[in-house]
Amino acid sequence: MGRLQDKIAIVTGGASRPGLGSSTAIRFAQEGAVVFVTDIDLDGAEAVAADIRESGGLATAIQHDVANAADWDRLFDTVRSRHGRLDALVNNAGVVIHGLIANYKDDQWKRQVDINLNSVFYGTQRAVELMREVGQGGSIINISSGAGLIGVPGASAYSATKGGVRLFSKSIALECATDGIRVNSVHPGMIRTNISAISERENPEEFQQQVNAIPMRQFGDPMDIANMNLFLASDESRYVTGTELVVDGGFTAQ
Ligand code: NAD
Repeated sequence: MGRLQDKIAIVTGGASRPGLGSSTAIRFAQEGAVVFVTDIDLDGAEAVAADIRESGGLATAIQHDVANAADWDRLFDTVRSRHGRLDALVNNAGVVIHGLIANYKDDQWKRQVDINLNSVFYGTQRAVELMREVGQGGSIINISSGAGLIGVPGASAYSATKGGVRLFSKSIALECATDGIRVNSVHPGMIRTNISAISERENPEEFQQQVNAIPMRQFGDPMDIANMNLFLASDESRYVTGTELVVDGGFTAQ
């Protein structure tokens, strides 16, 4: 029996590799979940779902722009018609649109908020509706960031969305506590991805400075986040709701 045996899960932003979404989808499937891997990049999502199936897991790829409410409705229609239930939603898709306040454009702000924050509202609302209908609870996992806990110059809009995700999650956790629907935010620190690999290759000194700023003196691995998401999606976290789970090698403890 896997830790998520027969649970139905959605992971958004599941296409990119290495990525926190694809790692989460793969980890969930290893533990017996039926996973909907969604992304705006359908080919990437299909490739992740195909790998999961080849390894004996159950996964379906769905094209899904998280900033589009109608896409969320289509996704939930599919989940409802195929399974009639949802046990876990991981709101993972996100982008970083950097910029200092003096130059930041209105449309950059709007896009940042649409993809990182409005998406979490759309997904959470629809998940709560279906989980309440079924009446067996569920887990909503909202991927925030260290930037949702502390300020980041040059990333104020990103930080605003991730801070918003944190308090939105707590508020919905309180609204849904008696339904058995748990809502938590996960706060990754610096994780090894394509972006960190480029910075390590092209700017090794700056990369080393970043590593030195982390108390554990190493970047995290996408699987570190996937394993936290696994805990939150499983019944092992049955008494955990309305909190923030920080996975950052001690960075924000300083
Ligand atoms: P990534 O860029 O590797 O992957 C993000 C995925 O989201 C991509 O597959 C992309 O196609 C998809 N996506 C982008 N816009 C979308 C949209 N409108 N609709 C649907 N999908 C869309 O990112 P990652 O590093 O895996 O990060 C995943 C999440 O973790 C993000 O929310 C990010 O803010 C957060 N995070 C990451 C780190 C890190 O170090 N990697 C640190 C803190 C927080």
